[in-house]
Amino acid sequence: MSEVAATDPSPAPAPTAPASATAPTATARLLEGAPIAREIRAVVAADVQAFVATHGFVPTLAIVVCGSDAPSMVYLRQILNGCEKVGIGGRLVEVLYDEADTGGSAGRLLEGIQALNADRQVAGIIVQMPLPRGISLRTVIETIDPAKDIDGIHPLNNGLVRLGYEGFVPATAHAVIEIIKQSGLPIAGKDAVIIGRSPVVGLPAATLLVKEHATVTVCHSRTADLAGHVRRADIVVVAAGQPGLVTGAMLKPGAVVVDVGINVVGGRITGDVDFESAAPVASAITPVPGGLGPLTNALLLAHLIHAAQRQAAGPATTTAVIRGVNS
Ligand code: NAD
Repeated sequence: MSEVAATDPSPAPAPTAPASATAPTATARLLEGAPIAREIRAVVAADVQAFVATHGFVPTLAIVVCGSDAPSMVYLRQILNGCEKVGIGGRLVEVLYDEADTGGSAGRLLEGIQALNADRQVAGIIVQMPLPRGISLRTVIETIDPAKDIDGIHPLNNGLVRLGYEGFVPATAHAVIEIIKQSGLPIAGKDAVIIGRSPVVGLPAATLLVKEHATVTVCHSRTADLAGHVRRADIVVVAAGQPGLVTGAMLKPGAVVVDVGINVVGGRITGDVDFESAAPVASAITPVPGGLGPLTNALLLAHLIHAAQRQAAGPATTTAVIRGVNS
């Protein structure tokens, strides 16, 4: 959850043909997140209604902010609006950050999280990242009740998922898999390359792709021949935070391209893939904005109601289930 997606509900741009007369003319199918997100929200809304009818309270998402800045507040408001749409309660918990007293600030933050852990109505907790200077990320993460860690940042959830058990995964990594699966594109047996090895996007996305039976290569800033790896991939997931890192010339014709990147270039939001050159070569591609962002937010709501259901059902249901990923 180190960086969160800026959801942009504006319509995705249509793929455009390259300017060059010699360039290929085929264009990729556009993998838009919004239609899938709408379907997920409809299911979540029905589940929330059933939950309230059964348990008599509204499951709530708490967003904890310590030393906030304006752009992240815009994003957080979008999450809270999403909660409202599906009947989930949204609670913004603002913790005072004092630069001159980081110890006191950390104490207030941890106490705030502990209070949310103990609050039955709060089914999920998100702590806005990055944390301000002087506050230990590890301590904060480990303070969140793993059962309420709906964005999958707690080591327990990370370990459970890696071991093939049920656990929460970061919503962005989940969105990577869902956009491919929900678009009806095959993953099993495919060669996938992920660019980026962060614990919140690249690595969990790699784990999920392996679970879906892809053969996965994780590339990063020290990868010697990035273009060579990308060229061999049927599925390319780019989560590097580097605008235009992947171009059409690097892609295998027909590749499926998932662009996780969110960069602001010249006042516009752009991904990590050079869309103009990639769209004519790929068979399917996510636009930025309009690709993963809306889906990520919808999946967060799905994780929330799932967490609420599991908490309401008691400890027995939180026992992990082996999924047989080693076969
Ligand atoms: P990060 O900075 O933590 O990690 C970036 C990764 O990219 C690192 O592993 C690094 O090794 C790799 N990398 C950087 N430059 C590279 C290069 N030139 N070649 C190969 N690898 C390179 O970032 P993150 O938190 O994983 O986020 C990645 C991108 O995804 C960012 O643009 C971020 O804004 C975006 N993001 C999007 C969503 C969403 O919902 N769409 C959510 C979270 C993050």
